[in-house]
Amino acid sequence: MEWANGAKAVACFTFDLDAEISWRNILRRHGIERDNPVVLSQGEYGPNSAVPRILKLLEKYDVKSCFFIPGEVAEKYPEVVGEIHDAGHEVGNHGYSHRNPARCTLEEEREELLMGERILKGITGETPKGYRAPAADLSANTHSLLAENGLTYDSTMMGNDLPYVIKIGSKEIVELPIRWLLDDWVYFGFNYFPPLEYQSGISNHRKVLEIWSDEFDAIYTEGLYFMLVMHPQLMGVPSRAKMLDDLIGHMKGKEGVWFATPFELSSYWKERARK
Ligand SMILES: [Zn+2]
Repeated sequence: MEWANGAKAVACFTFDLDAEISWRNILRRHGIERDNPVVLSQGEYGPNSAVPRILKLLEKYDVKSCFFIPGEVAEKYPEVVGEIHDAGHEVGNHGYSHRNPARCTLEEEREELLMGERILKGITGETPKGYRAPAADLSANTHSLLAENGLTYDSTMMGNDLPYVIKIGSKEIVELPIRWLLDDWVYFGFNYFPPLEYQSGISNHRKVLEIWSDEFDAIYTEGLYFMLVMHPQLMGVPSRAKMLDDLIGHMKGKEGVWFATPFELSSYWKERARK
């Protein structure tokens, strides 16, 4: 595999800044109309405490990442979005209210996408170039909606080791695939109430460091790409942020790793696919 500037492998760090709205959606899904303050405050931890710690860590290693932010979260925490953008990180579209696109009509899904875009652009001055679907789900319309609205990439699917191009008529979208193995929610997502979801237990972060490091090392040997999906409210607690510090330190110790933002990577892939 050939990467830009002779790199041997690629690493992408991404954060889904869902704050409290994914918790609110979970409550609603279980028919609980009350905004349980404790449940929601788990999400508030993201913008309040986790993002500052994560930004400091990324700065230490001079790594640029992407934060996918729902419009509703950006409206509530515009200064946090501004800090992320000012630090040179990419801000990606993550819908407006974190509704699952698969449960939206075409019109509703378009509205979610464009409202999210308008709000992020209003804060950063830039139109988001990429998208990650809320709730890790897509509708049959999602990729064509993204292409129609000029987005370069999606990062939700799981169909390959490498980025791939999805053609929709004369348009195309680059897919930057993810995998559950490299998603912090699988290991650290936990909730007490309602007791119906995420009570599998909190994983040992040292074990997770081992899993992620081993996956990166194997990816590096094969010359592939490593896409880490994280949520500030989970990864930004002190011990896990330290674990991420150790992981990045390990990765930085290898020759020829291209630490790319998803937009940089998808632009490269688009060009490469044309050749
Ligand atoms: Zn999300």
